[in-house]
Amino acid sequence: MMILIVDDKSENLIALSKTLESRGFQIDTAISGEEALKKVLKHPYDLIILDVQMPGMDGFEVAEAIGGYSKTADIPIIFLSAVNVSKEFITKGYASGGRDYLVKPFDTDILVLKIKTFIKLNQVQQSLQTEIEQRKLAESKKDEFISIASHELNTPLTSVKGYLQLAENSLGKQRLDQTKIFLERSKKQVDKLNHLVADLLDTTKIASGKIKFNYQHFELEPFMQNAIESIRHSYPGKQITTTGVSLSGISLLGDENRLEQVMLNYLSNAIKYAPDSNEVTVDVQLLPDKHLQVSVIDQGIGISHERQLQLFEKFYRVEENANRFQGLGMGLYICAEIIKRHQGTYGVQSETGKGSTFYFKIPINPVMADLN
Ligand code: ADP
Repeated sequence: MMILIVDDKSENLIALSKTLESRGFQIDTAISGEEALKKVLKHPYDLIILDVQMPGMDGFEVAEAIGGYSKTADIPIIFLSAVNVSKEFITKGYASGGRDYLVKPFDTDILVLKIKTFIKLNQVQQSLQTEIEQRKLAESKKDEFISIASHELNTPLTSVKGYLQLAENSLGKQRLDQTKIFLERSKKQVDKLNHLVADLLDTTKIASGKIKFNYQHFELEPFMQNAIESIRHSYPGKQITTTGVSLSGISLLGDENRLEQVMLNYLSNAIKYAPDSNEVTVDVQLLPDKHLQVSVIDQGIGISHERQLQLFEKFYRVEENANRFQGLGMGLYICAEIIKRHQGTYGVQSETGKGSTFYFKIPINPVMADLN
């Protein structure tokens, strides 16, 4: 802890410095108010002990100037005075921003106690201020999230309402073929809503540590086929190619549904963020260290290097593309949590405009005791 002592008499400076140094404080000194002001702007002092009577700027003026700079306004000041002990002076001392007013001769032990208390109070105040700032950020992010989430939920809901109305009309006209089409369309929108709500629930479960996993041995080949088929079904125009090794006869200990969620997320992102390409490749490798590595490769818009690190964070969306593509930024965050819980790792390789490869790597036989 660094303390600045300001006094125009060098013998006072030396005596007080020695006393406080012997109590473990680091001390700097200034021989005038002007010198003190220069020093406080350069060094982050924890406390200032200020003589009241000085030629040039007196202690009160120095305190007022220190209180005027935002950088130094919070440094606690203790006034020391030999003569001005009247109530009027003491009041002036507090008014100019001092925390305490001591009259010489003073008890060194009491001064040390006061210094420690003021420094501690100041630290508490600063950490509270940081906390308040952080919460105000978090708060505005939350507001932004609620507004995006309401919009995302509202869009499919409005479509469902519209399609149901159309279905009702065509039913009135006995046009059952049309009714069926409108009901199919509204079902798709309900699926979308279902997905969004499930993701929201997963996100809150992760935050509260309540997401549950159901670990069992399952066959990898049908697992992979199901995930790819399900995406082919949802996006019939897209071509999904598989490369790598055969998974025939290989089983993995994990939560099949949750891992399918990761596959579907990677695959649907590969389609969503590649509006001008029809091709997605799924590459599967079995690594010598008995890990399954799955890479989903697209030829889409890609992601710049500086954005790649944040992709798997909660609610993170690449700003430049946020208006062009709808989403809440929860998918990859949930994937990251699922992969971590399977003792795995994940990542992305990408270049803007050239496409992306999202991969994950998980052990085929994880350490049972570590699964939770
Ligand atoms: P969402 O798609 O709802 O925004 P995700 O968590 O799935 O949420 O993805 C986070 C962000 O990562 C997306 O907003 C997007 O900017 C970026 N991203 C994800 N996958 C891809 C991809 N295959 N190509 C380009 N950008 C991607």
